Amino acid sequence: MQKAAIIDGKAIAAGLRREVAAGVERLKAARGVAPGLAVVLVGEDPASQVYVRTKAQATREAGMLSFEHRLPASTGEAELLALIGRLNASAEVHGILVQLPLPKQIDATRVIEAIDPAKDVDGFHPVNVGRLATGARGIAPCTPAGCLVLAKSVRPSLEGMEAVVIGRSNIVGKPMAQLLLAESCTVTVAHSKTRDLPAVVRRADLVVAAAGRAEMVKATWIKPGAIVIDVGIQRVAGPDGRSRLVGDVAFAEVAEVAGALTPVPGGVGPMTVACLIRNTLAAAQSAAGAGA
Ligand code: NAD
Repeated sequence: MQKAAIIDGKAIAAGLRREVAAGVERLKAARGVAPGLAVVLVGEDPASQVYVRTKAQATREAGMLSFEHRLPASTGEAELLALIGRLNASAEVHGILVQLPLPKQIDATRVIEAIDPAKDVDGFHPVNVGRLATGARGIAPCTPAGCLVLAKSVRPSLEGMEAVVIGRSNIVGKPMAQLLLAESCTVTVAHSKTRDLPAVVRRADLVVAAAGRAEMVKATWIKPGAIVIDVGIQRVAGPDGRSRLVGDVAFAEVAEVAGALTPVPGGVGPMTVACLIRNTLAAAQSAAGAGA
């Protein structure tokens, strides 16, 4: 029997997007500034094209300006860096997002480091990574920021909780751990070399699964009543041969043990886009001297 409350990421993201749209209206009224987000896509990766389209649509729906730059897969690093330079200098652009992965002739680290940290709405620039690590004010990466909103929708204060983050990527796992530390959780970061992962996860009051391993986290790994946030997205073949999306968590069985659980799809995914436009509004507010 399902015990867990299902965390409705779609509804929570819709609420956040409405809040951002209201903030955009206030900024326009007070300062005459419309926040602008530039999204750069190099190449024709189908998944990246979908992400870019979704992000641009959410930007426009929030009343912001959306600038899309689509470059061919053969684009050289110098050409991309020149575009970043122009976007850094543009007064209309408050946020810059370069969709990853980039083609192999381009060094992604060099590109990320070329973005003005004040416009780095993905929160990947080392200056923002450092600010997050030191507890200073900066821009936090969108996916972990969204996970935090979802966890806090269940328990507004996470103080003192045992949190286990599965995955140590720069995009999800590491910034997630920093955000949870800032919430005064006791944080363990597990990864592919962790010994006895089930035993580690069983300690957790809060689990964030970001390993990219379909349905890896089983019910027997979960402490009864724990909050489980599932970041993973994998397409797998269903019993009928049709493909379906699953997360890192074996949803049906974990729902019998956990206290609250995010679904896939409809959990973390919509929050990533909502947090992106929230970051863009915050960047525009800072640029206009309007505060957060
Ligand atoms: P990644 O491949 O960069 O990192 C995966 C991490 O998981 C690594 O640190 C690795 O050590 C760890 N890991 C892998 N196998 C493991 C195992 N068997 N046991 C324990 N740890 C293991 O991936 P990522 O970019 O961090 O993304 C993780 C997942 O989240 C992917 O499924 C990705 O598609 C998804 N994702 C979703 C969103 C969203 O908006 N919903 C955003 C980003 C990523």
